[in-house]
Amino acid sequence: MRDEKLLHILKETFGYDQFRFEQYNIINSILDGKDTLAIMPTGGGKSLCYQIPALYLDGVTLVISPLISLMQDQVMNLKEYGVNSVFLNSSQSYSESQKAKAQILNGKVKIIYVSPEGILSPNLAGFFDNIGVSLIAIDEAHCVSQWGHEFRKDYTRLGELKERFPDVPVIALTATADAKTRIDITNQLHMKAPQIFVSSFDRPNIKYMILERHDEIKQLDEFIKTHHPDDTGIVYCLSRDKVERVAQALSKLGYKAVPYHAGLSQNERAMNQELFNIEEKIIVVATIAFGMGIDRPDVRFVAHLDLPKSIESYYQETGRAGRDGKASTAWMIYGLQDVVKLSQMLETTDADENYKKVARFKLDCMLALCEAAACRRSYLLRYFGEIGAETCGYCDSCIEPPTLWDATVDAQKIMSTIYRTNQSFGAGHIIDVIRGSKNAKITERRHDQLSVYGIGKDQPKDHWNSVLRQLLNLNYIAIKNWEYRSLGLTNKSQEILTGKLKLSLRKQDESVAKIKTAAKQDKKRISKSKGAEAAHGQDDLFEALKDLRNRLAKEKNLPSYIVFNDKSLHDMCAIKPRNASEFLLVHGVGQNKLENYGNVFLDTINKFS
Ligand code: ADP
Ligand code: ZN
Repeated sequence: MRDEKLLHILKETFGYDQFRFEQYNIINSILDGKDTLAIMPTGGGKSLCYQIPALYLDGVTLVISPLISLMQDQVMNLKEYGVNSVFLNSSQSYSESQKAKAQILNGKVKIIYVSPEGILSPNLAGFFDNIGVSLIAIDEAHCVSQWGHEFRKDYTRLGELKERFPDVPVIALTATADAKTRIDITNQLHMKAPQIFVSSFDRPNIKYMILERHDEIKQLDEFIKTHHPDDTGIVYCLSRDKVERVAQALSKLGYKAVPYHAGLSQNERAMNQELFNIEEKIIVVATIAFGMGIDRPDVRFVAHLDLPKSIESYYQETGRAGRDGKASTAWMIYGLQDVVKLSQMLETTDADENYKKVARFKLDCMLALCEAAACRRSYLLRYFGEIGAETCGYCDSCIEPPTLWDATVDAQKIMSTIYRTNQSFGAGHIIDVIRGSKNAKITERRHDQLSVYGIGKDQPKDHWNSVLRQLLNLNYIAIKNWEYRSLGLTNKSQEILTGKLKLSLRKQDESVAKIKTAAKQDKKRISKSKGAEAAHGQDDLFEALKDLRNRLAKEKNLPSYIVFNDKSLHDMCAIKPRNASEFLLVHGVGQNKLENYGNVFLDTINKFS
């Protein structure tokens, strides 16, 4: 009985045939009245895990969500599916919130999105306690945990809900939580005998590429040109200044690029987010402020120009690529400056020592990913506690296995130079000494008289930067003084200096030739798949459907993917439905979408048959 009803909701309302990952088990756990924690990768389909129970159960479902834009998007989306939902948050005027409340009291609303402040506010307590809440969903639940990567104070009080609504099951959802964070979430939320479901973290359609930074704009331009010339993407930078700089540089190069960061006015931000939602081939250059509200499924690439501060952040940000399951790229360049900058930011905060310890550990893991000689995907999955295959065949390490080289002698040169200069200089100066530079700082200090002066002039600066960075990451050397960023030896240094331990490193400095062959292979793959589509005579139909979709979206003032995403359009091309019942076979078409859009899309498809 229950199964039938659930499948009916899945099909009739949302237009899908099967549950994905653990959706089915998660939904059943909730309907059995159990507190439930669902860990599912971004794009895995977390929303349906509470939306379907919400429709199944009598009464209303409360969804606690940290971001206003996310709530608006969900409500808009649900409306298109014919589900009555509202949000209550601080962005609303008095009359808007009164209207929403009246709708709720009328018993028409099935799902209420509300901010943590809203649900905990004493003013609204009486209201929420009397509307027949049957389920509480806590989205982005990693925010309750100090161990998570986006800890939010207002989330910590959500445990109170269990006391206020003792008989209502709670479902917590997140895309990123390692084992420690999972336990912490269930504790913080006072969950009773929680059921935990973890779906695979693997995003097989995302290709991971991590390179050293040489000339960021040039590298980025080459990457986009060769891999994603006609695509939509996100470029993440650490600072607002850099966001502005990179957005301008990309515009100059002829890309449609807009900036996004917390320093822009609310208006500008909303406008650029909107552009990102509705435009084709758009690139948003952003700080991590651009994040949680993004639902666009056809983001083809996410590029990082700076190192994220943890694997969790990296995975969440790169996870915004390819939600529609199609080939996408997570591309990143990094350099020594990143490590120094992030460490410095961390050390100068007044966070407690325990927090810093966690953060240092997370940054180390991030670095280890960059410097890993083995498969990137297997490293990532292992980090999240999943044992996957040793190699994936779809990351830079797998496609072009890195060459290892014996770096022992070079490491000794760097360490000796650090030692001879009394462990009181930063990376730049150390490398200048090794390379025999003649700058004033060196002659003034008579460092040109040292035995190590010029011992490495046969190698370029980049080479020394790379070795030094890896020594730093592996803790063979360390930053001794944060103010001056001066380097010192560690208790591990001796092993290298005495030659007891050999140091094998990933040969960095990807040769240009290598990148070019990889790009050529990719191009072949793309044109091959394009060829296949054209062979079926579907390219024109797809374009026509896309135009229609974009026009309708503009008319209704909706992002185009909310009308239909590309996967639905591709499905229409493949199925070529002739009538309403065939149209219902298309991915993402339920009753409401059939009524709203069935006729116009069927007409267009008809013209091409
Ligand atoms: P998440 O919140 O986990 O990032 P969403 O809930 O936004 O992901 O879902 C991502 C996409 O997958 C949406 O377009 C959603 O409609 C679709 N989806 C969810 N469940 C299914 C399913 N069982 N079958 C097909 N598509 C699904
Ligand atoms: Zn791999």
